[in-house]
Amino acid sequence: MKKHYQILIIGGGTGGIMTAAKLLRENKNLDIAIIEPADKHYYQPAWTLVGAGTFDYKKTEKVWLQLFLRM
Ligand SMILES: Cc1cc2nc3c(=O)[nH]c(=O)nc-3n(C[C@H](O)[C@H](O)[C@H](O)COP(=O)(O)OP(=O)(O)OC[C@H]3O[C@@H](n4cnc5c(N)ncnc54)[C@H](O)[C@@H]3O)c2cc1C
Repeated sequence: MKKHYQILIIGGGTGGIMTAAKLLRENKNLDIAIIEPADKHYYQPAWTLVGAGTFDYKKTEKVWLQLFLRM
């Protein structure tokens, strides 16, 4: 793993992933790293529907690496 990046984002939740995606959309050559301790990302807005019993909790869970590779 490299030790130096142009941009380092701490936290790969919604904010971190969106920031990285927007920056890469502007310039796909940017050298960006994201520090994220979790291996899964949860789509939190859908938890409201889970609480109401109308959405499956498992569908709110995504494997973090798969999300990142989609960028
Ligand atoms: C029930 C519920 C319903 C919601 N509904 C809506 C809605 O309808 N519309 C809407 O816009 N928003 C909604 N939100 C809010 C939205 O989900 C959050 O605002 C959004 O996820 C926040 O993004 P974030 O990147 O700040 O945090 P998160 O998405 O929580 O990401 C933070 C990341 O930082 C990582 N992290 C933690 N500690 C460290 C560390 N020390 N070093 C590195 N990484 C670390 C975590 O593992 C996590 O991946 C809802 C939230 C909830 C809980």
